Amino acid sequence: MKTNLLAVISANAQRDLLEKDTTLHSLLVDELHRQSCTLALVASCSVSDLAVLACEGMFLDNVTAEGYPGARYHAGCRVIDDIERLAVSRACKTYGARYANVQPLSASIANQVVIASLLHPGETLLGMDLDAGGHLSHGSKVNISGRHFNSIPYGVDNDGLIDFDAVERLALQHRPRLIIAGTTAYPRTIDFARFRTIADKVGAFMLADITHIAGLVAAGEHPSPIDIAHVTTLCTHKQLYGPRGGLILSGKEHCKVVEDSTGATLEQKLDRGVFPLYQGAPAPNKIAAKARALGTAGGYEFKETARRIRALATCAADELKQLGVKVQFGGTDNHIVIIDVLSTFGLTGIVAQKALEECGIIVNKNRIVGDSKPVTVASGVRLGTNSAAIRKITREGMRDVCTAIVMVLKSVTPRSDKEYSLDASIRETVNESVRNLCARFPIPGFEAAGEKTSLVHTH
Ligand SMILES: *Cc1c(COP(=O)(O)O)cnc(C)c1O
Repeated sequence: MKTNLLAVISANAQRDLLEKDTTLHSLLVDELHRQSCTLALVASCSVSDLAVLACEGMFLDNVTAEGYPGARYHAGCRVIDDIERLAVSRACKTYGARYANVQPLSASIANQVVIASLLHPGETLLGMDLDAGGHLSHGSKVNISGRHFNSIPYGVDNDGLIDFDAVERLALQHRPRLIIAGTTAYPRTIDFARFRTIADKVGAFMLADITHIAGLVAAGEHPSPIDIAHVTTLCTHKQLYGPRGGLILSGKEHCKVVEDSTGATLEQKLDRGVFPLYQGAPAPNKIAAKARALGTAGGYEFKETARRIRALATCAADELKQLGVKVQFGGTDNHIVIIDVLSTFGLTGIVAQKALEECGIIVNKNRIVGDSKPVTVASGVRLGTNSAAIRKITREGMRDVCTAIVMVLKSVTPRSDKEYSLDASIRETVNESVRNLCARFPIPGFEAAGEKTSLVHTH
């Protein structure tokens, strides 16, 4: 049998870590147990595939590879070039794109690159308000996108849906150079074509940020913006089960000339925007890990997972409604369910988040439409099913989780916006049932971590 050289190196690496740094090693083991024995329902988190982790932990980071395949500033990049070309071709194939840049270190950086490549500082962009479910990097005043550019926010209407009339009115009034369509806490389908119609009316570029729904789009479970928007950005660590990192894609307009003075095309501007405008040398481990994640996205098994993501979210929304919980937007089309814990249970989002964490259920507080509480408190909680889907939790399991959530939140006595007490016997019961559920549906590849004692080998 041929030796798997990489496995030998990984084993050596693990042995070294244990011998040289027991402190860090034991923290990693702690975190492994935490992930294994709790149920993550944070909509932006996911579980990296083990083969992705294998790439991320490799020696490719030893190579400095400023530039792009075939045009690096350093020698020794022959293999790295092939790996990056593979990642690019898989990104294009997965999304039906004609251009891909796989170097951005995160989706936030990918967004900065697009904004800074297409706008001069001070020019206007129109993006979704953070409070309405947009992302920081879409023009929030605390982010560079809102500080160095004139950002105009749009929001949602009384039903919680994107207010397209307002988008159009604001576009006509402010004449933005860029309109950003993308959300981070929005459970409904996004009508990308409608955004493009508005962008065309005012001669704006359109950026679709599909970070949250990247897996659903890859699997055909959400309409794709690739040939509608000028540029699409996403991250590989939420729904693609890949490494932490960003991607920039473009469809049929990738060769459009966007700078009359130089004749530069969209893809040229974007490439130069990543390097040298924003980044130096790329992270080859991450590029390999992205290639791995993109190698599975779009395949049969991935499509099954994407369908499960949606089915579990719909199931959770229905069950929670059944149990009397106020579900925002009335339900979900994607992986996100937002519940109003203030009007249902008289609890703030932060109290609900903390109480659920004590019971092994990991969620995040989220502002709701017209929220009266600040972002650090919030009146809602956002649930997401990316991790539950990869654990292959069944609908029945999901219904049990919803019952547990309601049971916990009903047993919380609030003392203030941030302080509370929780019935101890409920805490124990729910923790126990979450641990059982996690043992029944382990994170793929983490099966050994279910038993705490089995992992702490000291020799
Ligand atoms: C999470 C998110 C991002 C940021 O991703 P990072 O890679 O963590 O920077 C960008 N856009 C949207 C819509 C997101 O939800």
